[in-house]
Amino acid sequence: MTEFRNFIAGSWSEGASQSPNINPSDTRDVIGTAARASRAEAEAAVEAAHAAAPLWAASTPQQRFDVLDRIGTEILERREELGRLLSREEGKILAEGSGEVMRAGQIFKFFAGEALRQTGDVLASVRPGVTVDVRREPVGVVALITPWNFPIAIPAWKIAPALAYGNTVVLKPAELVPGSAHALAEIISRSGLPAGAFNLVGGKGSDIGPVLTSHPKVKAVSFTGSVPTGRGIARACAENLKKVQLEMGGKNPMVVLDDADLDIAVAASLNGAFFSTGQRCTASSRLIVTEGIHDRFVARMTEALKKLVVGDALDPATQIGPVVDERQLAQDLDYVDIARGEGGKVAFGGERLNREKPGFYMAPALITETTPGMRINREEVFGPVASVIRVKDYDEALAVANDCEFGLSSGICTTSLKYASDFKAKAQAGMVMVNLPTAGVDYHVPFGGTKGSSFGPREQGRYAAEFYTTVKTAYTQP
Ligand code: NAD
Repeated sequence: MTEFRNFIAGSWSEGASQSPNINPSDTRDVIGTAARASRAEAEAAVEAAHAAAPLWAASTPQQRFDVLDRIGTEILERREELGRLLSREEGKILAEGSGEVMRAGQIFKFFAGEALRQTGDVLASVRPGVTVDVRREPVGVVALITPWNFPIAIPAWKIAPALAYGNTVVLKPAELVPGSAHALAEIISRSGLPAGAFNLVGGKGSDIGPVLTSHPKVKAVSFTGSVPTGRGIARACAENLKKVQLEMGGKNPMVVLDDADLDIAVAASLNGAFFSTGQRCTASSRLIVTEGIHDRFVARMTEALKKLVVGDALDPATQIGPVVDERQLAQDLDYVDIARGEGGKVAFGGERLNREKPGFYMAPALITETTPGMRINREEVFGPVASVIRVKDYDEALAVANDCEFGLSSGICTTSLKYASDFKAKAQAGMVMVNLPTAGVDYHVPFGGTKGSSFGPREQGRYAAEFYTTVKTAYTQP
């Protein structure tokens, strides 16, 4: 049986207890056992990161480049193998699994470059003869807490900038996906990083999470996950005066206007709403469609949904893999019932599917005749469920799109430059997509949202420096 262990101070450990890692496409397939760290082990990981901090903070840009570049190279070389492991434990299809692994490798390569491209300012002081320089320094020990839906890309987009800017790390991945985190830790362990500069602790967030968010030696916490957990982490960080960055839920709108290219609108909506089994924070869960194109759009979406192959994530013919676990599946099915009870019409799917292997399969659900106030249009489902809202015109579409407590990604399908330009300016979201799915982003530009979706500085691209560094202003009189 494969053991997915903790990695603390350069050594592997079994943890205080273990939990099984189950394949959601075939629940008889136990991928391995995952170590659950005790609170004492979580504390030891923080101590190790603290002890390694001065050494890594003093590393040269070349050393940082070499470590990150080596990590990126090995990830890219093992893309298919690691993608398969990811698909086996999380349930996204093979193409998505290996695509995510490739993304993780690219992120390490990008931040390898960033380690060399450091910037600062030298300015004349307002006082005669004095110069001022402004430089970025590491924050110290950072705790990274990640969700299950991107088991290697999200850890990568936190670990890579953390190390590039000279911080040391304690990673706490989601319990459902210990294999990908373990594989990443193994690669990092061979990269030439000093012992203790990177640590991995598995286990229940409610158990060891509070150790990380309250320990005085942790200086910053970067979290991706659900809103309730994020709020709790923000409270703990405020109490302990830690820097905090939160990436949380979404209820992302995709506006389809009468003048849209219908092929593009259907392809973008199908991808945005249902690929990766709809388990993306940027998923297009609200399809806001103007009345002139509404019926044609729904008919084409329904036709396309009928053709989607739902099945074993490891079968190359599969287009939609299983839901991640029983609890998430129950939540997805519940929301279909809630929508039905509120007056929505299930135009397609929404039921549990039986396949040859026992797994958490669900027919992607398209719910029509919904209105903005319904729960299905206000709460995050986090599964293959999308609702359609019929609107009169662009102005109403924009108002409905913005009528939401989340603000992560917002999309529009239109051939009108006027509406596309207006939407880019007025959409209340951190990311706006024109004729593209709301999900699917680049790794060299900022990622994050507004309103209830995000808190703190942006992730990814050069903007990541904002969170992973602190600024020092030095005045010199020669
Ligand atoms: P979750 O909030 O249940 O868990 C996320 C992480 O927090 C896990 O590692 C968990 O163990 C840990 N955790 C739980 N309780 C904790 C505590 N008290 N203290 C510290 N850590 C704790 O989220 P999930 O179910 O793993 O992921 C799904 C959610 O993630 C969805 O809401 C989705 O929208 C969101 N998400 C957001 C983004 C984004 O960038 N905005 C990206 C992916 C996923």
